Amino acid sequence: MSDCLFCKIVSGDIPAQVVYNGPNTTAFRDINPQAPVHILIIPNHHIEHIRDWGAYDNNILAEMFQTANTVAEMEGIADSGYRLMFNYGADGGMEVYHLHLHLLGGRMLGPMVVRQ
Ligand code: 5GP
Ligand code: ZN
Repeated sequence: MSDCLFCKIVSGDIPAQVVYNGPNTTAFRDINPQAPVHILIIPNHHIEHIRDWGAYDNNILAEMFQTANTVAEMEGIADSGYRLMFNYGADGGMEVYHLHLHLLGGRMLGPMVVRQ
């Protein structure tokens, strides 16, 4: 998709701190990190969001989780622990509509959602 921010990161048209670059997935540091380690794992081809994944490639989610675990090892947070998260839609706080898995860690992350 020509006007997609994350597609442009995959193609190298927009710079990012890429930590992993595989044939089907890419991982790069979030520009506005919410934890000492905050990395986004994305499919290299454009998938809009998690509701859409089945329409594209049955293996890509597994590969994204595999990439997340590999990157967690590389970042030294595999033993201390981490959180993997997809946002979707307005209530989920989704901002960029290219499927991405958040990898967060490096400190105690606290409650999973803001308490009411
Ligand atoms: P969402 O809210 O859609 O689940 O997450 C989108 C994430 O992308 C946010 O955490 C935001 O900080 C990150 N982000 C937005 N624009 C850029 C960018 O240009 N570069 C990088 N590396 N991250 C970005
Ligand atoms: Zn895209």
